[in-house]
Amino acid sequence: MYHDCMRRNEMQPSTDTTMPRVKVTPRGATRLKAGHVWVYRSDVMAGREISQGSLVEVMDARGRSLGTAFYSSSSQIAIRMISAVRVPEFSALLRHRIGEAIEYRKRIVQDSDAYRVIFSEADFLPGLIVDRYNDILTVQILTQGMDSASVRDEVLDELSARLQPESIIERVDARVRDLEKLAPRASALLKGEKTATTVLMNGVQFQYQALEGQKTGAFLDQRENYAAAARYALGEALDVFCYQGGFALHLAERCRQVTGIDSSRAALEAAEANARLNGRQIEWLEGNAFDVLKDWASSGKRFDTIILDPPAFAKTKQDVDAALRGYKELNLRALKMLRSGGLLVTCSCSYHVSEASLLQVLSEAVVDARRTVRLLEVRGQSKDHPILLNVPETAYLKCVICYISD
Ligand code: SAH
Repeated sequence: MYHDCMRRNEMQPSTDTTMPRVKVTPRGATRLKAGHVWVYRSDVMAGREISQGSLVEVMDARGRSLGTAFYSSSSQIAIRMISAVRVPEFSALLRHRIGEAIEYRKRIVQDSDAYRVIFSEADFLPGLIVDRYNDILTVQILTQGMDSASVRDEVLDELSARLQPESIIERVDARVRDLEKLAPRASALLKGEKTATTVLMNGVQFQYQALEGQKTGAFLDQRENYAAAARYALGEALDVFCYQGGFALHLAERCRQVTGIDSSRAALEAAEANARLNGRQIEWLEGNAFDVLKDWASSGKRFDTIILDPPAFAKTKQDVDAALRGYKELNLRALKMLRSGGLLVTCSCSYHVSEASLLQVLSEAVVDARRTVRLLEVRGQSKDHPILLNVPETAYLKCVICYISD
């Protein structure tokens, strides 16, 4: 897919010789030839002093061109490919890719006016993330290559022309900007004046405040999993790590009673506003999920449906063991609290925790809890967060839905 997509974008041969060249090791070249899009700094052999965010031509050790990339002077990922051919001028390619990303969403997004329009590498636009919330677009810029004034202008121009949003808002991830050595910026309106709207996903309404909240405000990557979980949900339900009520509100369509737990008061206030918007009664509990589950599991509290959607426990490879212990504890407690015939939906959004590891931890928890688990669905992120087959890092979310019995 990556190669097809790039060939169609092939530019006219150019006599431009000013694009800096960067030579990569045979290991780096092999990675690119296998369809990956990154080269780590340790696989960069030589290149003259390159200014941050430049377009570079990537060469193998024998001097053959491997295509065009953004160069980062600070990230461990020194090279992020934008094309397998030479692209002397980025503008036309950028506009073409934005168009392709929008066309892809038209094909695969259903039942929602909130979805990810552009997902960085997975749309061959490394460092650019765009989300649509009804009539508001949010933009995040995460790489030096995407941060130039001219690229920003082109992105806004193309998005405005194709999607006609009421407003466009930049959401800044200060930590990433710092890692990429980009000048600090504040989240702000880039176009229009509207900063709040209402979205509709799977028939459930959510309020959206563009200048508040985590990530870009909502967890759009779980959208298809909300609907999947609701299909099986029943009885008394518990949404652990509920944030603004994504799962809880979907469960409320089917369940007799729903409780949501989160440690963030602001998230729960937004969750309650969402419940009111949908005419639902949900009980929200502010607290540390580990403590609450521990108390409830030992005091004999029971549920028919439990959702576990914790934050990323493993941000790096080094955190994986501790993360797996965290998942084991949560899943064990949930398994103990579920009535026979109940539903467990357990998620992990850590790329470093593989699907196999999550299933392994779950199977260990099952033995300890002396329950039986039938796997109903092993799912991933919504399809508007595409997974590139040859770039495993684009797959990060796991969502396992299972039937619990004695
Ligand atoms: N399920 C949500 C997303 C969850 S994100 C949705 O679909 O929208 C993770 C949430 O966990 C955040 O809202 C964060 O505030 C909360 N959180 C983090 N640590 C926590 C803890 N120890 N106990 C309870 N909530 C916690």
